[in-house]
Amino acid sequence: MEKTVKIQKGTIKCPVCKKGKVVAYVGAAGQSSIQCGRCKMFMLVDYDTMTAERVEPERGVI
Ligand SMILES: [Zn+2]
Repeated sequence: MEKTVKIQKGTIKCPVCKKGKVVAYVGAAGQSSIQCGRCKMFMLVDYDTMTAERVEPERGVI
């Protein structure tokens, strides 16, 4: 089995607690909603600008 090595592009800080981090990998693009591992808040991560903003969780997701 071949292991795919992913190269980190950088990390994006959680906009709510400023402690949780999202790791962005090279090749990641667009936007994605992610739950912070620290404060459990949802954030919308923009891999193109390497920023994140808080979003309300969508109903039915949790
Ligand atoms: Zn957080």
